[in-house]
Amino acid sequence: STVVTGATGSLGRLVVDELLRGGVPAGQIAALARDERKAAPLAALGIEVRLADYDRPETLEAAFHAGDRVLLISGSEIGRRVPQHTAVVEAASRAGVAQLAYTSVLGGPEADFELAREHQVTEKLILESGLPYTLLRNGWYSEVYTEQLATALEHGAVTGSAPREGRIASAPRADYAAAAAAVLTGEGHLNTAYELSGDTAWSLPEYAALVSEATGREIAYREIPADAHLAIFTGAGLPEELAAILVDVDRAVGRGLLAATPGDLARLIGRPTTPIAETVADAVAALK
Ligand code: NDP
Repeated sequence: STVVTGATGSLGRLVVDELLRGGVPAGQIAALARDERKAAPLAALGIEVRLADYDRPETLEAAFHAGDRVLLISGSEIGRRVPQHTAVVEAASRAGVAQLAYTSVLGGPEADFELAREHQVTEKLILESGLPYTLLRNGWYSEVYTEQLATALEHGAVTGSAPREGRIASAPRADYAAAAAAVLTGEGHLNTAYELSGDTAWSLPEYAALVSEATGREIAYREIPADAHLAIFTGAGLPEELAAILVDVDRAVGRGLLAATPGDLARLIGRPTTPIAETVADAVAALK
């Protein structure tokens, strides 16, 4: 089977849809989920749901079968992901899967910022497992920004501590999902790492200008100091440690660590990546 973990999440669901669209029969797709209720729509499509939780290694034993092609979608709980991913890699290894693809971070070992650490440890675990692997080193989702559109409109500004000249080569989740489906169904992707990012890197002032254009409102990029940015996150109830990791992402943007445009994503999906302007337009349309 083709197995997708995190199939009840945003990216995972898009990968499943992409597999179906590409002609993989529902009966040959397995969705790994920890919540049976959330997985019900997948089961209704004829997809095999395998219930498993990264936090409970014993539940992962039956999650993988010999010969499966597996996509491990990185967990969403920052700080817990090393033990979680370790449990998944060990279970996949014991089962003898034919491919383990993993959603890593753009730059892989070169991604010198806090949020990337767990991905780097996971990449190492995967390499050491000896399993045939495919590293999908995903850049930022365009939705990381457009999902904050309502807040930006409320404040009349996009706010952050990334320098104005920092650039981000984002692509929407759907593009990354299409790349994941391509490596799970195609040949020639084993023991390979792809650096996946949008074709064009944009700056936050450019992003704010696109939001202004799409909404008819005057929206600027407001660059604030790192300590003020941290205070916004902690004020919104985020734990100090997580807030610091998010502020560090803006520092990484300033250092150009999310700006690479090697073209791997467009090549894998066989078309240009979706421009940020299009994702902004979709987000504006969804607000109405
Ligand atoms: P979501 O939060 O929508 O999905 C995460 C998925 O992982 C869900 O299906 C969730 O299950 C599952 N999951 C989390 N913890 C466990 C666990 N302990 N056991 C089993 N399953 C678990 O995130 P996205 O789909 O948007 O993104 C996918 C991943 O990409 C994120 O988890 C994160 O690692 C990374 N990411 C990347 C970003 C980028 O810009 N490149 C931005 C944000 C995240 P459930 O539905 O039950 O919660």
